[in-house]
Amino acid sequence: MKNDTLCVRGKYKPKSGEPNVAPIVQSTTYVYEKAQDMADLFDLKAEGFFYTRLANPTNAVLEQKIAALEDSTAAIACSSGMSATLMAVLNVCFAGDNIVCSNQVYGGTFNLFKTTLKKYGIETRFVDPNESIENIEKLIDDKTKIIFAESVANPTIVVLDFEKFSSIAKKYGILFFVDNTLCSPVLCKPKHFGANVVLHSSSKYLDGHAVALGGIIVDCGNFEFKGNKRYPEFNEKDESYHGIIYADLKEKAFSTKIIAQMIRDFGAIMAPMNAFLTDLGIQTLHLRMERTIKNAEKVAKFLEGNKNVEWIHHPSLKNDKYHNIAKKYMPNGVTGMMSFGVKGGREKAAKFMENLKLITQATHVADAKTCVLCPASTTHRQLSKEELIEAGIPDNLIRLSVGIEDVDDIILDLKQALEAI
Ligand code: PLP
Repeated sequence: MKNDTLCVRGKYKPKSGEPNVAPIVQSTTYVYEKAQDMADLFDLKAEGFFYTRLANPTNAVLEQKIAALEDSTAAIACSSGMSATLMAVLNVCFAGDNIVCSNQVYGGTFNLFKTTLKKYGIETRFVDPNESIENIEKLIDDKTKIIFAESVANPTIVVLDFEKFSSIAKKYGILFFVDNTLCSPVLCKPKHFGANVVLHSSSKYLDGHAVALGGIIVDCGNFEFKGNKRYPEFNEKDESYHGIIYADLKEKAFSTKIIAQMIRDFGAIMAPMNAFLTDLGIQTLHLRMERTIKNAEKVAKFLEGNKNVEWIHHPSLKNDKYHNIAKKYMPNGVTGMMSFGVKGGREKAAKFMENLKLITQATHVADAKTCVLCPASTTHRQLSKEELIEAGIPDNLIRLSVGIEDVDDIILDLKQALEAI
C-alpha cells in the first residue's frame, strides 16, 4: 500500500460483522479461559493482550499503521514524545554510557539529555550537526550507545545530513536515532537514510489537531545486535524474562526489549483514547501535509520579502542553507515549521506576536492551526544565554508553524502584525 492508503486504512482489516472503525478498547485487562494461554503470553510465546500497561488493541492498530508508514518492523505508542525518547534511550544506555547528539534538537530533549540523564550517570556530548565527520568521530568512544539527531530540528529548521550521521553510526556499530516529528513519515522516512530507531512526538502532525499527547518509538529492524559488544544487554539472557536473548529476535530485538523491560517497568504507555484520536488524525495526515507544505512555501516567500523580517529559515527558499539537502531527503516538502527574526530584537518580536489577530500564540506546533512562539522567552527559557547561542536560537527568533487555513488569511495577518511593530 502507498502512503495515502496506509494513512487511511493502515493494517486494520475488520472481519465480517466487525466495526469499520477500530474501536477504543477501554479495558485494562483481558480474560482467558485457559491458564496456559495466559502463560504463553507472559512467556512471549504468543502475541495477544493481557494487561493494557503492556499492550492494548487500540494502540496496536496505531502502532502497526505507523510501523508500516515508516517502512519498519514495529512501533510502540508511549504517553508522550518525551517518554518515547526516554524509553528508547534507557533501552540501551546505563550509568557510564554516553550519547552523541546534534545540538540542534527540541529544547525538552536538550534538557533531558543535558541535565536529567546526567543525574543518572548518562552523559551527552552535543555537537554542531554541521561539524565534519572527523570532529564528530572524536566524540565517540566504547561507551557511546546512541547517535541522536532530528530530521528537521525544532525550532532552528536545520535539515539533517542523514548520510553523514548514518555513515559514522555504521562505521562504529552504533544505533542511529532520528526524531522525525517535524516531517512525519509522509515527507521523510529516516530508515531509508540509515536510521535504526525513529521517534515521534505524535502530539504534532500525526494527531494533527492538538487533542492527544503521545509519542512513538519505531524499531526500523535493521540493526544487528548479535555479537555487537557495545550492547551486551542484547546478547545476554534476560533473567527477568525467562532467559530471553533479545539479539536472537533479530528485527524485533529493540522493540521487544522496550516492551518487555521499559514499558513493563516504567508504564509509559499511550492511553487507548489517545491512540484512537491519533489514528483518526493520521487518516488525513497525507492531505494535511500537502496543504501545510503549500501554505508554508507561500508564507516563507512572503516573509522573505518583508522589510521588518531580518532573516528567515525555511528550506523551501532557494537561498536557504538547507535547500539542497532538503531536496535530497524530503523531495515532497520539508515541514510547515519555519523560523524568522523580527527586526528590532526581543521587544519587537513580542510586539509582533501581540499584534496577531488570527494566528495564535501557543507552545504547540505542527497542527491544523497556524501558531507562533518566541522560544527564547518560553520553551527554551531554561537555557542560559550561552546555551541559546550554542543552540542557534537568537532572542528575536519567532517559530512559526503554518497550518491548513486559507493561506491568504495567514499572510494578511502576518502582514498587518509586522507593519504595526
Ligand atoms: N521531539 C520534538 C521534535 C518535539 O517538537 C517535541 C515537542 O514539541 C517532543 C519531541 C516532545 O514531545 P511531547 O511534547 O509529545 O512530549
